[in-house]
Amino acid sequence: MAEKIEPISPWITGTLVTGAIAILLWREFRRPLRRTTEPRLTRQSRNLALAGLAAVAVILVETPLIGPLTFTIERSRWGLLGSFQLPLWAEIVGSLVLMDYTFYIWHVLMHKIPFLWRFHAVHHVDLDMDTSTALRFHFGEILLSVPWRAVQVLMIGVTPLTFSIWQLTFSLCVLFHHSNIEMPLGFERILNRLLVTPRMHGIHHSAVLRENNSNWSSGLTVWDWLHGTLRLNVLQQSITIGVPALLNPHSVKLGNVVAMPFLTQPQYWPSSANETSLENKEINSRSRMLP
Ligand SMILES: [Zn+2]
Repeated sequence: MAEKIEPISPWITGTLVTGAIAILLWREFRRPLRRTTEPRLTRQSRNLALAGLAAVAVILVETPLIGPLTFTIERSRWGLLGSFQLPLWAEIVGSLVLMDYTFYIWHVLMHKIPFLWRFHAVHHVDLDMDTSTALRFHFGEILLSVPWRAVQVLMIGVTPLTFSIWQLTFSLCVLFHHSNIEMPLGFERILNRLLVTPRMHGIHHSAVLRENNSNWSSGLTVWDWLHGTLRLNVLQQSITIGVPALLNPHSVKLGNVVAMPFLTQPQYWPSSANETSLENKEINSRSRMLP
């Protein structure tokens, strides 16, 4: 185990995350990538309310459980990386990469397991996607992710320092790829070779099932590439953001989406492609990002 360095202070993380939100909101106001369907203030207030409930779940459950667990892992040298004498930089990079990959798996499970999808659907039924969508998670999804997070940090051997770095970098990545900012296509194509970008994640929020079932990575693009789930060849302006059963603004009001996981589930996706008029044309190869 490498020498001990204090974890990043929550104040530094909070300041950097708030600064990133401010910059992204300003950029998406000046130069939006996709046209929007709902009034910005209505949507963002709803997303902020959902974020508030999620924050309560993080403060009351995730932080008191995972924080002390990482200190125990460091003391006891548990987990894969704790069993090697790695230099600090290698331990940090290894932890971040493995946390990112295991989060990819968690994201796939949230889509594939109906009980988990009940909660993750609340994130996907947002009718537009912007920086505020990055904060919009049902508190139930946060609570369900705590055991998964505990297994992640235990198996990988994540220390308090690496966990604090992961929390910061993961938050910045999630804010960035949900944002509705238009970047020069050539620049985004280069950046996307390494990281998930707004155009790539916009395709994951499409109301076309085939597109929703792709681009599950959150940080590094490589996991979708390795699993054959990368899809970039969709025009952003042709994407309908949301889930087919709930494309009406009245169906996604705050009370409805908070209650949604606990009620009888709608048929979110049409049973056959013929039932939807949302099909987007596929252009060129799957791995070529379009404007
Ligand atoms: Zn998703």
